[in-house]
Amino acid sequence: MKIVVDRARCTGLGICESFAPEVFEVDDNGDLVLSSETVPDGLESEVEQAVTGCPTEALRLEK
Ligand code: SF4
Repeated sequence: MKIVVDRARCTGLGICESFAPEVFEVDDNGDLVLSSETVPDGLESEVEQAVTGCPTEALRLEK
């Protein structure tokens, strides 16, 4: 599954990072960096929590 970020919506607060730091990281400029474009094996639940936890609905998963 692919992780899609709507950059126009992302405010860089890093809620996603708190759920899945292995995948999401907000850099020093407040930009979201993905360590992987797809959901890594074994992290499906964490990434789903990050997607639903994003307050600006900037994240979605694509099959
Ligand atoms: S939780 Fe949403 S708004 Fe915040 S950094 Fe992650 S994608 Fe961006």
